[in-house]
Amino acid sequence: MAVKIFVDPGHGGTNPGAVANGVTEAQVNLSVATYLANDLRNLGYDVRMYRTNNDENVISPIAADLRKRAQTANEWGADYFISIHSNSSVNPAANGFETYVYRLGSRSAQLAQSIQDTVVAALGMRDGGVRQANFSVLRNTNMPAVLVELGYVSNPTEALNLNSPAWQQKVASAIADGINKFVTGQQS
Ligand SMILES: [Zn+2]
Repeated sequence: MAVKIFVDPGHGGTNPGAVANGVTEAQVNLSVATYLANDLRNLGYDVRMYRTNNDENVISPIAADLRKRAQTANEWGADYFISIHSNSSVNPAANGFETYVYRLGSRSAQLAQSIQDTVVAALGMRDGGVRQANFSVLRNTNMPAVLVELGYVSNPTEALNLNSPAWQQKVASAIADGINKFVTGQQS
């Protein structure tokens, strides 16, 4: 049976996420998540996306929406959970690729490190590292779960990349490679 990977494009519905420099986070997250889902399917994984358009499955308030995302992955029996987000800062110079997990030193953190290393090597981004965060989707999922921050919408250079379909495909492929390296390493 194929390994099941749940891909969660952050935000959507009436919640656009971070908006700056002509970038709307919810749209970028969906684009990258769609490329990622396709790449993972091509690698033989069973993939489910939480939403495949702006509004699908998104509910209010946000806290309930986040719980529903984790609950949907739990009920499906996902083996891994990947949430796709884009970052923002009041400092326009802030940049780089970051991953978040509920606990450092966990299998989630090992998966995050594989994603982190693969993306930084493939795209030459600043390595923001694997970080700990008490995010709802990480806390409420019962499988290894990683939240990816693709780059900063508030950084003019990274904003151009985030809006570029070619860059979106490239970062998605690197995330898929990082996941695949970890999963195949676990199985061998
Ligand atoms: Zn976000």
